[in-house]
Amino acid sequence: MLDCLFRVHGLFVASHPWEVIVGTVTVTICLMSMNMFTASDQLCAWKYDCPKMEEQILSSDIIILTITRCIAILYIYFQFQNLRQLGSKYILGIAGLFTIFSSFVFSTVVIHFLDKELTGLNEALPFFLLLIDLSKACALAKFALSSNSQDEVRDNIARGMAILGPTFTLDALVECLVIGVGTMSGVRQLEIMCCFGCMSVLANYFVFLTFFPACVSLVLELSRESREGHPIWQLSHFARVMEEEADNKPNPVTQRVKMIMSLGLVLVHAHSRWIAEPSSQNRTVGPCVALSLNDNVPQRIDPERPHPFRLVSMDIEQAITLGLALLLAVKYVFFEQAETESTLSLSNPITGHALAHRRGGDTCCRAEPAAPRNTQGNTQQPCPIAKEQKAEGFCSPLAAGEPKRPSVLERRPKVSDCHPDSLPKPPPESRPVDECLSILKNPELGASYLSDTEVISLVNSKHIPGYKLEAVMEKPERGVVIRRKILSSQLPLPTSLTCLPYKDYDYSKVMGTCCENVIGYMPVPVGVAGPLLLDGKQFQVPMATTEGCLVASTNRGCRAIALSGGASSRILADGMTRGPVVQLPSACQAAEVKAWLESTDGFECIKDAFDQTSRFARLEKLMVVLAGRNLYIRFHSSTGDAMGMNMISKGTEQALSRLQEEFPELHILAVSGNFCTDKKPAAINWIEGRGKSAVCEATIPARVVREVLKTSTEDLVHLNINKNLVGSAMAGSIGGFNAHAANIVTAIYIACGQDPAQTVGSSNCITLMEPTGPSGDDLYISCTMPSIELGTVGGGTSLAPQQACLQMLGLQGASPDQPGENARQLARVVCAAVLAGELSLMAALAAGHLVKSHMMHNRSKESLQEPPGMCTKKVA
Ligand code: NAP
Repeated sequence: MLDCLFRVHGLFVASHPWEVIVGTVTVTICLMSMNMFTASDQLCAWKYDCPKMEEQILSSDIIILTITRCIAILYIYFQFQNLRQLGSKYILGIAGLFTIFSSFVFSTVVIHFLDKELTGLNEALPFFLLLIDLSKACALAKFALSSNSQDEVRDNIARGMAILGPTFTLDALVECLVIGVGTMSGVRQLEIMCCFGCMSVLANYFVFLTFFPACVSLVLELSRESREGHPIWQLSHFARVMEEEADNKPNPVTQRVKMIMSLGLVLVHAHSRWIAEPSSQNRTVGPCVALSLNDNVPQRIDPERPHPFRLVSMDIEQAITLGLALLLAVKYVFFEQAETESTLSLSNPITGHALAHRRGGDTCCRAEPAAPRNTQGNTQQPCPIAKEQKAEGFCSPLAAGEPKRPSVLERRPKVSDCHPDSLPKPPPESRPVDECLSILKNPELGASYLSDTEVISLVNSKHIPGYKLEAVMEKPERGVVIRRKILSSQLPLPTSLTCLPYKDYDYSKVMGTCCENVIGYMPVPVGVAGPLLLDGKQFQVPMATTEGCLVASTNRGCRAIALSGGASSRILADGMTRGPVVQLPSACQAAEVKAWLESTDGFECIKDAFDQTSRFARLEKLMVVLAGRNLYIRFHSSTGDAMGMNMISKGTEQALSRLQEEFPELHILAVSGNFCTDKKPAAINWIEGRGKSAVCEATIPARVVREVLKTSTEDLVHLNINKNLVGSAMAGSIGGFNAHAANIVTAIYIACGQDPAQTVGSSNCITLMEPTGPSGDDLYISCTMPSIELGTVGGGTSLAPQQACLQMLGLQGASPDQPGENARQLARVVCAAVLAGELSLMAALAAGHLVKSHMMHNRSKESLQEPPGMCTKKVA
């Protein structure tokens, strides 16, 4: 309930930042002016010249006040430093300070309205500064900073509010009640301070819930990059902040203790104010007014009469406070960056950046890395890929000397920035391997306290297995960086990896799932073909390829299909296969096992074992063949939305164990006996099917064939017979009765996170063309693909870019309605896209356009400059 209220409130504030900010600032200014005009000479905190009579301040007080002020200034400085970890050097800190400032103004006005004299309040100011807790700002800002878009900023602020709001409320209440105890002390100065403190906490609370989130929302909105709408603030290391924050929900025990304490304090307050001294204290208008009756009359001195000690001590006090504030401000504004740079140059991370890193997350350096030098000392050229991606560092355009893009939020430094991808330079003072090992094993220290060179020495001495680098380092990307360094030194050209990107990639999704010994990632251009009108729905088909013309050609096919009223498709069968090989002592015994497996009891027994291994895999049939005493069992199973190879392998293993219990003499040779058949051309897949078997058809009117495909139905049909059917038969093809199904299948597979090796079987396709229509001028085309092996969950579909492509099709993840429906629909899209590709390529071949268009769109200018014969481009 409370969560909901705070969530709605947070959403409102984040959605209307201007209104909230202007409102808060206006109220603050109004309150300030009310102070100016109505407070007359009583609010000494505002009017420094106002006190005609000042309280006498003892020298001991001055020392205490000076120390308190210095502590307050240091405290604010560290709060600012904390906020800088979030990527904001000034804005969030200033917003936080404004929150405090406005609460101060508010409290002053309230106390003034209660007709209380605030003489001496300026002495209390340092104490109020100590009440500043910008960690709340940090916590809320973290939620906002983990967003990908402005909409997400609002949602995340709302979520942050829902999680943090109730805790903040309880904290504010407890703080008020605790500080409020001081208002009963009987010491006038303390009572005023405590009363003011309570007001400040309350005002601070309200302003924090309104002004600060509005400010964060606005700042992030303004700091969007205008060109692409890509948020510059997003900090990948906060990607899981919300889950963490949700996990770190306030300890219920602490919350209960706070509540009980609050209740107790409320009773104490009630007793002391209304029960214990009801009449004598005359506390009808609250504690602040009551204070005036409790006032000890302060000793006053005449300001006209100089008090030598007071004058000198006040000067010293102000000078010390001012000096410290200035020193820290100058350090923060000018030297923080330079300091980090200088620590970078230190090769020993313990003495340098690593300590700071340990303390405040992965802060390492702030400087844009300089362009690296190759072994000859020449500055390397910026890499075009990185230029496009605006990646910083090795290939960064910034490294080439371009001015830094201005932004409201400074980018948070990253560990990777500290590791320009150059050859390892041994630090002058690398520590011995034993010492490095003990640092690594020390849970308090760990890998972040080791320099890259030291980590490399641990790898070389076999203390860290090279393949485990990502897991051992404090974050996976550093493991990748170090592996690149180790590898670079072993390559014929040490700078080979320069333009293989590695930054800003979520390696956590890769580890243990998609790739090992990672040294970066391969960007492949992704094009789109579409709309593909299929079964009455439109699909924009993502295709990752480096073959020029391919996307354009498929796109032309899609256009022809759309102009013809669309294509229709059906799924004919759905089931992944795994074909283990087992051996028996004799062929006769093998025959017995085959008979048992083909019996109802035998199948049920095996199915029972198989089905227990997954929520989705269900054994549907077994195909058993013999080769002497070898038995090949083709397990055929539904796999939901997963492609299913891991799933079915797991089930098969379990089923074989059961079979072995039944036939102890049975020897399992391998869980895969190539009878599956996975990733190899095989007639069994072509005939029996594997994965999804799909068929797709379309009728293209003669006009579309002529105008879009620039050919005739007659020519297309003739070519299809002689190329795709006769030609492939002459070549002894299995499943290759098509023009270039593999082109489209592979491009979609790479874009959508499928296993690219499975294009071997998935590209099985027979393309048929016939003349149709009243005059036989229209073209009927169909593509039949019996073994499309794909899924929308598992494997590479868990990576964000691949998921983006699946989302383009509306097919990412598991089908919410019916398990397997997303994968089946993806197979239909693949089959229809293949049909589009077949139409277009066959038309180009029939019209004699193929070579010409490939020469135009599929040859890089660089290749053209090479000597003749150096670059040859194959055609389908
Ligand atoms: P997987 O990620 O290993 O398994 C799919 C997982 O998703 C299972 O844990 C499954 O639950 C879960 N799941 C959740 N919702 C689902 C839904 N609606 N439908 C289906 N599963 C759902 O994926 P896989 O497809 O089995 O294997 C793909 C990987 O295998 C790829 O990386 C591929 O490269 C690789 N591969 C392996 C072999 C091999 O021989 N092992 C061969 C070729 C390729 P349950 O746990 O309940 O099943």
